[in-house]
Amino acid sequence: MLAIVYQGKGSIKVEDVPIPEINPNEILLKVRAASICGTDLKIKSFGHFKNPQDKKMILGHEVAGEIAEVGSSLKGFSKGDRISLAPNIGCGVCWQCINGQSNYCEDYEAIGISMDGAFAEYMRIPSRYITQGNIVCLPSTISFEEASLGEPLSTVVCGAEAVNIAPPDVVLIVGAGPMGVLHVMMAKLRGAQKVIVSEINEARRKQALDFGADIAINPEAENLKDVVVGASYGRGADVIIIAAPSGKAQEESLELAARQGRINFFGGLPKGRDTISFKSNIVHYKHITLSGTTGQSLSQYRKAIEIIASQRIDVKKLISGRYSLKDAEKAFERAISEDTLKIVFNM
Ligand SMILES: [Zn+2]
Ligand SMILES: [Zn+2]
Repeated sequence: MLAIVYQGKGSIKVEDVPIPEINPNEILLKVRAASICGTDLKIKSFGHFKNPQDKKMILGHEVAGEIAEVGSSLKGFSKGDRISLAPNIGCGVCWQCINGQSNYCEDYEAIGISMDGAFAEYMRIPSRYITQGNIVCLPSTISFEEASLGEPLSTVVCGAEAVNIAPPDVVLIVGAGPMGVLHVMMAKLRGAQKVIVSEINEARRKQALDFGADIAINPEAENLKDVVVGASYGRGADVIIIAAPSGKAQEESLELAARQGRINFFGGLPKGRDTISFKSNIVHYKHITLSGTTGQSLSQYRKAIEIIASQRIDVKKLISGRYSLKDAEKAFERAISEDTLKIVFNM
């Protein structure tokens, strides 16, 4: 079968590799759609701390497909079932896992990150994915490529729940890449009265408006604080989500937030540039709640799939290009471009 294999920092290759063999307690998935994540691009360039030996590995963790083979000791699944899966598995026994938040398990593992992933014609699903509830049987109203986008949407569910967006919040989203526009749609769905997007790239600002933002501004050309204050009856943004790798944006968010504002540092900062400074008293006197989120819990993953299946968020609109596995180089190249949102491999 064809697969996109990470070769070590800086390189991927399309290789012909054997179809994985499964144990009696595993599933073989015929991958039908898998989308490229910012994490895949980062792994391609810099590797991943979960792969300390920098070993060769099939990338990809945003995936949906059909069951090709069910291990002989498994019940409840059949060949042909349409499924997708949450990519992270926790250890299952730590405090975070017991609390249902395997995304904060210190010993998590994930397809495409610490084991072979989804950019392949077939993928082995290890038994822990099955026993821990990572697999979701897809409703008929969701396509494979939409289901592959359930993973990025679920991280947005996680971020939006942390700041509890509700009417009549005025929401500021910094950054209008794929995650930023998903946040725009999620904020609207949760009842934000106004969504303001701050983004320096013009094409991305236009995209943000197409995805439902009420205002999209270039913070280098306009005064963001004036716009936020003007759009929020003078109080500042009730919710701020930083979906860009910008320490400056994180620092400034405290000034832009309303009293009792909730802020989510959704995007991580590049290594070595992850120190910021701010006036602590702003947090104190304004009663700011500051959170950071990463990944998703299993329930948040299921919510994302149901939100897509119920057509409350149209993730198809994010697909900027469709590729076959053999065009991996082109697809990865395209995924880096600023006006690209999501790239999907169809098998
Ligand atoms: Zn992802
Ligand atoms: Zn754990």
